[in-house]
Amino acid sequence: METIKFEQLAIQPEILRAITDMGFEEATPIQAKSIPIILEGKDIVGQAQTGTGKTASFGIPILQNIDPKNKSLQAIVLCPTRELAIQVADELRKLAKYLHGIKVLPIYGGQDITRQIRAIKAGTQIIIGTPGRVMDHMRRKTMKLANVKMVALDEADEMLNMGFREDIETILSEVPEERQTILFSATMPKPIMDITKKFQKDAQIVKVVKKELTVPNIEQYYYEVRPKNKPEILARLLDIYNPNLSVVFCNTKRMVDELVEELQGRGYFAEGLHGDLKQSQRDRVMNGFRNGKTEILVATDVAARGIDVDDVDAVFNYDIPQDDEYYVHRIGRTGRAGRQGIAFSFASGRELYKLREIQRYCKTKIKAQPIPSVSDVAEARVSKVFENISETIEAGGLEPYVEMIEEAINVNDYTTLDLAAAFLKMVMGENEVATEEANQDFENTGAEEGMVRLFINIGKNQRVRPGDILGAIAGESGMPGKLVGCIDMFDKYTFVEVPKEFAHDVLNAMKHAKIKGKNINIEPANQR
Ligand code: ADP
Ligand code: MG
Repeated sequence: METIKFEQLAIQPEILRAITDMGFEEATPIQAKSIPIILEGKDIVGQAQTGTGKTASFGIPILQNIDPKNKSLQAIVLCPTRELAIQVADELRKLAKYLHGIKVLPIYGGQDITRQIRAIKAGTQIIIGTPGRVMDHMRRKTMKLANVKMVALDEADEMLNMGFREDIETILSEVPEERQTILFSATMPKPIMDITKKFQKDAQIVKVVKKELTVPNIEQYYYEVRPKNKPEILARLLDIYNPNLSVVFCNTKRMVDELVEELQGRGYFAEGLHGDLKQSQRDRVMNGFRNGKTEILVATDVAARGIDVDDVDAVFNYDIPQDDEYYVHRIGRTGRAGRQGIAFSFASGRELYKLREIQRYCKTKIKAQPIPSVSDVAEARVSKVFENISETIEAGGLEPYVEMIEEAINVNDYTTLDLAAAFLKMVMGENEVATEEANQDFENTGAEEGMVRLFINIGKNQRVRPGDILGAIAGESGMPGKLVGCIDMFDKYTFVEVPKEFAHDVLNAMKHAKIKGKNINIEPANQR
């Protein structure tokens, strides 16, 4: 995908500054194609789907062509509804933030007309209005058209659908002919082409047909994760799903660097990719990823864009992308060629709203998932080991080993079961598997439904407050503090309830933790 920066589009510095403030990094395709044409003064028919930035496509060149010293009406933008008129006016005002002396006014039915008349007279150069209300002002001669040099029809197909055709034609025939006529629409039915023929001069047609935004065949999950716990949760997911190749997307270069270091420190084969790397470094990283030496590519959107990594097993949105479309691009890296892809997103706070918006925009479902516990990781590893065992047995050639096992059993008085269990434990290494007993302990702690009551041998006498307990549990285990249930504090000990699915994590994390500098003992409570 070729990208165009706004700086490449001959836009004046004041507007560029506003664009930067608005957080736009690069022009959308319809903007890149249409802004230069409109700036040249040519008529245009622009077609692109909703949400592709059509407002700025005409808004930027209109603002740039307005003479701020001239206080008469110079541009009219027609919009189908009051909401859109307000929205477009807002966007234009943002773009005009550093331009002095430019007034943008939305006008629509239902609003006090004398107020509008006063505002128009006060020196409005750009009017954003619904066709009906604009007609109204034209009839009343409260809107002078003599100096109007640009007319834009925004969402033209919608306006026609709403029966504004006659109004539009009337308006267009009354505005001086020496004008530029700009038309934007999501679709191009014949009536629009009729308007073009009748009212535009030699219009350039610009089309951006967007790729289908649906994202089939990709399972999408999200986890509510506090930023601080993201590395741990990422590691657990990598261990559980064990993807051969995965891409982890971050929103900033700094985050890429930090995460790569963190992952490498945890023993993963991870490399980072972002805009600050020299070409030779990028090549090295990409070669490593293609030949499988690097299993995890950590990248920013911009850096990942130019590269052809398409068949990864999993995509992680370590940060939720700012742009909805980025989400689609990101997760589209997996699930190619009919294979089952999987995408995980981490979100907290405001990012959760962003996720909801993405689901709406992409018409997709991103399912919430509970954070996998340490024992989930262990379980996943056990099943992986058993899979390997099956393969090894099927491959055959076990005879010499069977003999050795027989000998070990005879010499040491072990059972084959003991031996197999010992092997499994060795293979599992740090991923300890909890005993049944420990699990059962959680059933009878006298906690509320779904919770586990934990006993901690520290209390009021040690000058500990409930907040210290909560802080320690959340801080050490990574479980969100708001999930901690009731905390009962006594002189020498404290009971605290945590959700069952986090109980293992909390116990493990707290084993070596200190509260207020004191070593503690923590265990499931005995029901009295
Ligand atoms: P359309 O009219 O094509 O439906 P809009 O002009 O309403 O789309 O733009 C949709 C959203 O995208 C708006 O919130 C707008 O501020 C934002 N937007 C526009 N251009 C860009 C850009 N170049 N980069 C990022 N966001 C943009
Ligand atoms: Mg629009």
